[in-house]
Amino acid sequence: MATNVKEFLESYALYETFDPHTLAWWKSDWPEAVNVPCRSCGDTRSHRLWPTKVAGFTLDSGVYMIHGTCEQCGNNGVMFWVEYNQREGWMRKAGQLPAAGGAARRVLEPAVSQ
Ligand SMILES: [Zn+2]
Repeated sequence: MATNVKEFLESYALYETFDPHTLAWWKSDWPEAVNVPCRSCGDTRSHRLWPTKVAGFTLDSGVYMIHGTCEQCGNNGVMFWVEYNQREGWMRKAGQLPAAGGAARRVLEPAVSQ
């Protein structure tokens, strides 16, 4: 059970609701970095986050696209799409690259170019 947004980003599966009922404190403050698998390094690395709001359904709900850059190798292949509702106090992942839980499996896919 995640206790903060960083743990939510690192460990939750797609569509699994992070529901702390305390998102009133959350003012779109994303963590500076999360530890997730880097498809270049092939290991869990600290990734610097670059959040962008891509859709706003109402004033306090919407979708963020969050770009992650590996602090080890600079690869920028990590992405999260997060749907949130601040009034109701929940958020969930609508998408993630590389897929959550696939860390051990190195798949052949084109590298994301800069
Ligand atoms: Zn890396």
